[in-house]
Amino acid sequence: MSETSDTLFSKIIRREIPADIVYEDDLAIAFKDIHPQAPVHILVIPKQPIAKLSDAESQDHALMGHLLLTAKRVAEQAGLTNGYRVVINTGSDGGQTVYHLHLHILGGRQMSWPPG
Ligand code: 5GP
Repeated sequence: MSETSDTLFSKIIRREIPADIVYEDDLAIAFKDIHPQAPVHILVIPKQPIAKLSDAESQDHALMGHLLLTAKRVAEQAGLTNGYRVVINTGSDGGQTVYHLHLHILGGRQMSWPPG
């Protein structure tokens, strides 16, 4: 997918395409991944369309903190009391396919290392 400011995740924020939304506030929204890689696979995204982590600026530091704390909150809400993994694929080598910054929350099974 090409790097544009209006991705399908912006369409999910605007409710133009459906998603199973599990959390929303003024700054962020979380919804279930359409192709789950674990029993729980939720994406947390900022409403502000930052394309990728490497595009975040120092002025975004509060938003970045908010996204991490939102991931913690959503993981708790999903009942992941035994742990979970948070992943941010960044750019081509990072395996990013949707160019709207997102945190993957993966849980409900034992994770392995290293990732592929
Ligand atoms: P990336 O590869 O960029 O780190 O992650 C993008 C994620 O978005 C993938 O896990 C993919 O399954 C998910 N995804 C792609 N299109 C949609 C969609 O239309 N709806 C939802 N809920 N997830 C999507």
